[in-house]
Amino acid sequence: MARYHLWTVGCQMNVADSERLGLSLDALGYESTGRAEDADIVVLNSCVVRQGAEDKVVGRLESLKSYKRKNPDATIALMGCMVGPRTDALRERFPHVDFYLRPQDFSELVEYAAERQGLSCDTDQSLLVPARPMVSTFVPVIQGCDEFCTYCIVPYRRGREKSRPVAELVREAEMLATRGAREITLLGQIVDRYGLDLPDRPDLAALLRAVHPVEGLERIRFLTSHPRDMSQRILDAVAELPKACEHLNLPFQAGSDEVLERMRRPYTIAEYLALIERARETIPGVAVSTDVIVGFCGETDADFQRTMDVLEQVRFDVVHVAPYSTRPGTIAERKLEDDVPPAVKIARRRAVEELQERIATEINAPLAGTRQEVLIERRVKGAWTGRTRANRIVHVQGTDADADLDGHLVEVDIVRAGPWSLAGVLPGSDGAAADAAKSPLEIGLTPV
Ligand code: SAM
Ligand code: SF4
Repeated sequence: MARYHLWTVGCQMNVADSERLGLSLDALGYESTGRAEDADIVVLNSCVVRQGAEDKVVGRLESLKSYKRKNPDATIALMGCMVGPRTDALRERFPHVDFYLRPQDFSELVEYAAERQGLSCDTDQSLLVPARPMVSTFVPVIQGCDEFCTYCIVPYRRGREKSRPVAELVREAEMLATRGAREITLLGQIVDRYGLDLPDRPDLAALLRAVHPVEGLERIRFLTSHPRDMSQRILDAVAELPKACEHLNLPFQAGSDEVLERMRRPYTIAEYLALIERARETIPGVAVSTDVIVGFCGETDADFQRTMDVLEQVRFDVVHVAPYSTRPGTIAERKLEDDVPPAVKIARRRAVEELQERIATEINAPLAGTRQEVLIERRVKGAWTGRTRANRIVHVQGTDADADLDGHLVEVDIVRAGPWSLAGVLPGSDGAAADAAKSPLEIGLTPV
């Protein structure tokens, strides 16, 4: 049987692309393998948002050189954000790669894979909608980004904003729900600009309202939002639609207005804080996650302290923090000096992580003893695992693999709460007593 190996790094957009590509290859009779050496087709889905991610991809590409020498018939494809509009430099550096595929654009490989199997291939929508989607699955709704924040390489690699029509997305949501998905996350680098490039300018609120009636879907989320584009219409839609989860990802990136200006982020911290207040007033109990960059060009100790102040003031549920990494070709790389020493960047990241661990511990502690609705997604280390509407991970103890909770919405009594996840039991089960004796690590309160 023909085999493929699919390796993915990076954001949820990459995960969504890989899921679709993998399932298209499954449909063509290929089998997935965890080892590149066993595969006929090897695909690396790449990320270059930070140097660390790019280094990983380059390491994998280098390691495939000798494999290709020994197996000249094997096919190697590089997809994702490492592939820009021009590929000459990549082709010269990695001559063993057969296909270069721009993000979201893998139909050429699917057609080739079909030919290899002696099949004709219809790369229509239905082939690219997973036949067996995950319980919680991603739906890319807008590609690209027109924003050009000075530090970010995404607009150069993912191109201009391009939304998919509402009717196509509703059809896709229906197919996914029929095939077993219970939760969809509408994806875009700047998802709250969804639709503004389409002829009749539907917005994300209109899209949420359009997919909401899809039968079989229990929950709808969306990622990632830009603070400037988070409209009251979107907040109202989340508040009004029962399936829309009370969870927003609103990256603020830096706490100092001067740093925000150098990043080309078009808001002040006062405006950002006002938005958070409005979101919390409109959507009671809303969970808010954010992204922060530390050590951006010219960030002083006082600037960094403002980032810490915002974290203290807002008390986010989740914070994704990254040290600034210069990206070739970006405005910051061309015009600003990367002048914060690496050790200072690392120390600032650590300080953010420590602060957030304390805040998340405090936010989650009162959840112990409450009952939460959990959508079960998979079994992890012997426990059924899912998420609350607010996106908190919950490990359900005392249920065996045969309990078949996969894809079910269940009530869970929370017995322990850690900063990164919760543990609980089904009401009336005797798991609580057993769990009381265990340490947090034993019951899976591990970072995600
Ligand atoms: N579009 C979203 C926004 O407006 O914030 C985020 C998408 S971006 C691909 C994901 C995250 O990567 C960003 O929020 C930012 O924190 C981080 N990031 C992007 N470029 C970076 C860089 N050069 N160095 C460090 N982190 C970076
Ligand atoms: Fe990058 Fe800014 Fe676009 Fe987000 S909004 S993807 S950070 S350019």
